[in-house]
Amino acid sequence: MRKPIIAGNWKMNKTAKEAVELIEALKPLVAKAKPEVVVCVPYTDLWAVADAIKGSKIRLGAENVAWADKGAFTGEISAEMLKEIGVEYVIIGHSERRQYFGETDASVNARTKQALANGLKPIVCVGETLEEREKNKTNRVLKKQVLEGLAGITDFTDVVIAYEPVWAIGTGKTATAEDANKTIGFIRRTIKANFGEDVAKALRIQYGGSMNPKNVKELMAERNIDGGLIGGASLKAEDFACIVNYKD
Ligand code: PEP
Repeated sequence: MRKPIIAGNWKMNKTAKEAVELIEALKPLVAKAKPEVVVCVPYTDLWAVADAIKGSKIRLGAENVAWADKGAFTGEISAEMLKEIGVEYVIIGHSERRQYFGETDASVNARTKQALANGLKPIVCVGETLEEREKNKTNRVLKKQVLEGLAGITDFTDVVIAYEPVWAIGTGKTATAEDANKTIGFIRRTIKANFGEDVAKALRIQYGGSMNPKNVKELMAERNIDGGLIGGASLKAEDFACIVNYKD
């Protein structure tokens, strides 16, 4: 009943010209996609990509959104600015934002609320570091990120969570399908306990962390995994399309 969602996170890659080339290569390859397909691209690529995806199955996402409407927030981009371009999804709280740019659960919460208030669909990222995992703190860390990041949200219809173990991002190391399923199961139980059973049943939770054409089938076969947030492999049309078309 939960429609799978495969989203690319291009991070700080691709100029606008390169972005259009990638989209043009991708379009025919995902023309019959069964899951929802999203590309989250750098701000400078958004207008060009919005134009390039017209008439295709590909939906547009950004990689962050400001928590304020407008004003003195140098370097930030507002929800209204994104909406005007046709952005539908927005990644919030990616581990690289948390690690390098001081993003906290409180700022994730503020950005998520701002996205929802403006009709954007947040992909809220959570995940433990290797150190936290080795100290058996995974569940404690995830519970805090989920509860604080989503505090005060009452309508989860448009919310997506991406479980991304930090040690698996860009490293080539993937959580085993079984492990990812178990941890996402824990996130779902946390959602159920705090936001109710209906929310937990309907909420889409992606896995992210070195998902690729080789491991996608195994990961997506797991009951709790509703899609993927894909970094490196989303930068090659063939690889991303293979992931999108994992069922074929
Ligand atoms: C990501 O950055 O969200 C990600 C999952 O990256 P990668 O697929 O490269 O590990």
